[in-house]
Amino acid sequence: MDRQQEFVLRTLEERDIRFVRLWFTDVLGTLKSVSVAPAELEAAFEEGIGFDGSAIEGFARVFESDMVAMPDPTTFQVFPFEGGVSGESARMFCDILLPDGSPSWADPRHVLRRALSKAAEKGFTFYTHPEIEFFLLENGANDGSLPTPVDTGGYFEHTTHAVARDFRRQAVLALERIGISVEFSHHEVAPGQQEIDLRYADALTTADNIMTFRHVVKEVALSTGVQASFMPKPFTDQPGSGMHTHLSLFEGERNAFHDAGDPMKLSKVAKSFIAGLLTHAREYTAVTNQWVNSYKRLFPQALPDRITESPAYVCWGHLNRSALVRVPAYGKPNSARVEVRSLDSATNPYLAFAVMLGAGLKGIEEGYELPPGAEDDVWSLSSAERRAMGYEALPENLAEAIDVMAGSELVAEVLGEHVFDFFLRNKRAEWEQYRREVTPYERQRYLSL
Ligand code: GLU
Ligand code: MG
Ligand code: MG
Repeated sequence: MDRQQEFVLRTLEERDIRFVRLWFTDVLGTLKSVSVAPAELEAAFEEGIGFDGSAIEGFARVFESDMVAMPDPTTFQVFPFEGGVSGESARMFCDILLPDGSPSWADPRHVLRRALSKAAEKGFTFYTHPEIEFFLLENGANDGSLPTPVDTGGYFEHTTHAVARDFRRQAVLALERIGISVEFSHHEVAPGQQEIDLRYADALTTADNIMTFRHVVKEVALSTGVQASFMPKPFTDQPGSGMHTHLSLFEGERNAFHDAGDPMKLSKVAKSFIAGLLTHAREYTAVTNQWVNSYKRLFPQALPDRITESPAYVCWGHLNRSALVRVPAYGKPNSARVEVRSLDSATNPYLAFAVMLGAGLKGIEEGYELPPGAEDDVWSLSSAERRAMGYEALPENLAEAIDVMAGSELVAEVLGEHVFDFFLRNKRAEWEQYRREVTPYERQRYLSL
């Protein structure tokens, strides 16, 4: 047993923790959990916990269903706020293995690990920093009826909306108590909409943190009598919930995106990385924006009193919030980074980080040239102007996104054949189901024909 494993066992004993949850994520980004008693854990570290992979979305076909969840002791965390009758609980993320001990090709964590080791071969560590938006709702029934936001607040609003403010304070405290550092939190533009930004960390830690974040935020919301929703676009006339993510590559201690001698302070590595993100953007959008509903957010819309700030065209800009990739204002050398603005809060973070890293690395490998930045508001250009400037549109809906992804060698390589095929099959089925649905909108418009 290694020292991390011993630390886990000792902590469980010292704090008298009776439940250890083993967590992993399915291909669609849903958190899965199995509880083990501390007494079982020593064996679990040796052999893992067996389970039926065919019952997990995207994991296996029935005839090869045996899988093993192997707890990763470096992710051990006590949840001090989950007290109650059973006392404190703890959790660890797992890697999923096949019975012969090799990594499962279906495990999103493994997909990301594989992408990260490709970056490591080139000497890079990949860091990410997500800005997570979500709604706090009063009655989020799942019957399709319209939920009520908990407040009527707006961007950065502070004093008047007690529910959201208390909620944010509690959520941030809970996150900090389990070692997830929060950089900012504030009220977002729409009524009931919140944003919490996590401090940057290596991409695997960030992806684990996002999964934990969703769980903790939902629990804190429930304990305050409200519901948290990460749905990309719950309201027709309000902005959706994005998960803008800042990306950077480090070589050892040095930020590889920074170059003091460049007018934009961007290194050649950074420029090729951005070019890779742009060149392959249409191909990986089905992964960063995986639901039918994602595409209701991802196009420019004039809402009653504002325009949305989610990207719709493949271009980059300096301070430009209509661009897919934004390079934030220059700060300290080590904070050089790029912000991808398409991701939504319901993405699978492991897969999303893997495909973006894959696209960026491809740009570096092939020495892609960075096209000129877009300094105009891309939304307000005519489509002819956009065409002349070479700004392609992101896929308009899930069907288009799947079609483009299906032809992508890059995405197939990054996800691996199994996840790639499962994802496409699953998303086609989702689209077909949606397609046959006759909506209230259609009845309203067409019934009197
Ligand atoms: N909610 C917006 C989106 O869907 C982003 C607003 C912002 O700039 O933070 O991407
Ligand atoms: Mg925001
Ligand atoms: Mg942002």
